Amino acid sequence: MTAPILKAVNVTKRYGTFTAVNNITLDILPGTVHSVIGPNGAGKTTLFHALTGSTPITSGSILIEGEEIAHLPGFKRVRKGLARSFQVTSLFPNLTVRENLRLAAQGTRPTQAFNPWRRVESLTMACDIADDLLGKLNLHGVAQRLSAELSHGQQRRLEVGMAMAGQPKVIFLDEPTSGMGIDDIGEMKRLIHGLRDNYTVLLIEHNMDIVMDISDQITVMQQGQILAQGKPDEIRNDERVRRAYLGSM
Ligand code: ATP
Repeated sequence: MTAPILKAVNVTKRYGTFTAVNNITLDILPGTVHSVIGPNGAGKTTLFHALTGSTPITSGSILIEGEEIAHLPGFKRVRKGLARSFQVTSLFPNLTVRENLRLAAQGTRPTQAFNPWRRVESLTMACDIADDLLGKLNLHGVAQRLSAELSHGQQRRLEVGMAMAGQPKVIFLDEPTSGMGIDDIGEMKRLIHGLRDNYTVLLIEHNMDIVMDISDQITVMQQGQILAQGKPDEIRNDERVRRAYLGSM
């Protein structure tokens, strides 16, 4: 059996007396798209915050490739291979698309300030990563445009690219298609589907068509707990899930 790349064991997050994430246990298998769905307020974003280290957990254990990371702050979890795609605000608006990607690629390389040759090597590597990503993101045509000038769909693909640039193990995507038109949704779906070749993806997505099309595994949350887990067909046919999402699947 394949070992999970990321594992949450009995993770609980309380805000005061309110339990937003309640004793969640989750195995994320490598090379999969694992979607977390559930009604508003179910605890999906809080779970992402807990796993990525944006918020400390109240109790439980989080392991990446078997190594405990629950005690680590977010930036140290990034070094262990977790990357979160943030919204448009994380782009550098006055830099070109290529420069944004190059910076994101450099951000993860150790600083080589005391060895100029190693620094050149790391810059060259960052440029190569950026150029490779431009193709994968279908942003070649706008590589020299400022990121502020991109369409909404292009900006959202660039955000995903910024997460990919650090060559992480697991990428967290929080509603990557929100506010998009149908063409951009298609592009984003293709992009996420392709991510499985090199990364593992944790996805929060409200659009059920997308979730059912591109997920390998789905976790359904309700009131901070897991309501159901399984492959798209199992989730689609799960009576409890159908009741929770009546009419939307
Ligand atoms: P949505 O789909 O609407 O984004 P969600 O499933 O991501 O919802 P969360 O944002 O994780 O849900 O919120 C879960 C619950 O935790 C909600 O009731 C929310 O009000 C509460 N909550 C979230 N953040 C905080 C906070 N910082 N302090 C107190 N309560 C919070």
